[in-house]
Amino acid sequence: EEAKEKEVEKVVTKTPPITATEVKVNISIPEAAKKAAATGADGVGLLRTEHMILSMGVHPKKFIMEGKEEELIEELAKNILKVVDAFYPKPVWYRTLDAPTDEFRELEGGEDEPFEHNPMLGWRGIRRDLDEPEILKAEFKAIKKLCEQGYDNIGVMLPLVQHPDEVIAAKKIAREVGLEPHKDVEFGIMVETPSAALIIDDFIKAGIDFVSLGTNDLTQYVLAIDRNNELVSHLYSEEHPAVMKLVKNVIKKCKKASVKTSICGQAGSTPHIVEKLVEYGIDSVSANIDSVEEIRDVVARQEKKLVLKAARKMLENDGKRSQ
Ligand code: PEP
Ligand code: MG
Repeated sequence: EEAKEKEVEKVVTKTPPITATEVKVNISIPEAAKKAAATGADGVGLLRTEHMILSMGVHPKKFIMEGKEEELIEELAKNILKVVDAFYPKPVWYRTLDAPTDEFRELEGGEDEPFEHNPMLGWRGIRRDLDEPEILKAEFKAIKKLCEQGYDNIGVMLPLVQHPDEVIAAKKIAREVGLEPHKDVEFGIMVETPSAALIIDDFIKAGIDFVSLGTNDLTQYVLAIDRNNELVSHLYSEEHPAVMKLVKNVIKKCKKASVKTSICGQAGSTPHIVEKLVEYGIDSVSANIDSVEEIRDVVARQEKKLVLKAARKMLENDGKRSQ
């Protein structure tokens, strides 16, 4: 009986199709690194930092204020290592801290977190990172440590940028701690504000290796719909023509400039949206761990369809010419 079951298992285990568009995976908890790598994903399109920090239970500022910066760096490096090692040499894009004030408040030492009327429009992402350079420096130092150990598969990704100056400022801070953007690490941005999408050319000029579309936030900001408000959740749609128009344009502009494009919002785990993204020419799609296999199949089918369509068109044109 057991042998039979094993046999069945063997039959259903299939080799994943090869795709030109890379299929990556999102990771929020470093402990999930091995499971994520076992999906065969082509890398990590989003490594969220929030859990690493929040699970320490202590506000990162407290580490700094108490002169325990080294401890913070060690803890971060240990966590990031789990992921970059499980995926080596495949790329891992580490997103700098992006926790809203209401989440920080729950931590030891978080009593001083300011109250905001609109945390989602407030002090989070790169704007906060730049206001608290000591924490950002600790993150960069942790990454530098891993680079020195030979991990050349790390990318730094900035969340919620809305102006190219933020990219320039973040690069300056990286250099201050000896981490060289574009050399030690790839350096890129999340496109998740309408402003970043609308002036993507200016971000390209500021020097970026890649962009990742953060459609969860991009949708809420383009449509003015709070992603956590149930009263308006029925109106929330990543496929709204305004969102898709921005997405398509960003991919087009980046392709022209040889800047890599990816997506790490929930839309990257949604088959019929992924079909559109492949058609727009996106370089990679980063999905949730449980969706990687399905998304790989979706991408493979869509690529095949597009190639056959193009071939058919070519043959038709040839036919017309020879008439
Ligand atoms: C996004 O906004 O699409 C995204 C991936 O970031 P988060 O969901 O962590 O805000
Ligand atoms: Mg986001």
